[in-house]
Amino acid sequence: MNVIFHTTVAVGVSVLLTDTERIEQSKKKIGVTSVLAFITSVFSHGIMDYMPHCYPINSKIDVALSFCLMLFLVFMTDKKYKSIVGLSFLGTVFPDLIDLLPSIINKQLSLNLPIGEKLFPWHWHQYSGSIYNGECYASMINHCFLVLIVIIVCWCRFYDFKKIFLTLLNPTKVAKT
Ligand SMILES: [Zn+2]
Repeated sequence: MNVIFHTTVAVGVSVLLTDTERIEQSKKKIGVTSVLAFITSVFSHGIMDYMPHCYPINSKIDVALSFCLMLFLVFMTDKKYKSIVGLSFLGTVFPDLIDLLPSIINKQLSLNLPIGEKLFPWHWHQYSGSIYNGECYASMINHCFLVLIVIIVCWCRFYDFKKIFLTLLNPTKVAKT
């Protein structure tokens, strides 16, 4: 699936797992939540790659957009929660970094790095939902469904969303809300 959908879901994972009231005073809870965010994001990647999907966004634009979105949101994240958001993003791109990066580097830089079996089953032909025949209706529904879920999560947990991502904009207002 296009990386931008994985990074969008990572935002939902961060907001869903970060109960700011509960974990605010505990570094241990923030550490545990960061690890859980990484694991959840890796598995969310698997579910998304298993779903039928086309690639509506050009791969170079997709990677550049996703990278900018990740950098921007990590920058905007309150420093208490940076490890959670950072590991959510890392988890969500991790399977592609492991399985696909060597072949992308080979292609882009005309190198000949060794390419082994793909580690993650959702990248295996029999479990991947990739569609290349242009029949993208189910894919479009799935993409809309994912984005809608992330919007619903952020809306339902808007208090936490604000504390995670918007403190930098207006620290006192967010803190008092
Ligand atoms: Zn993948």
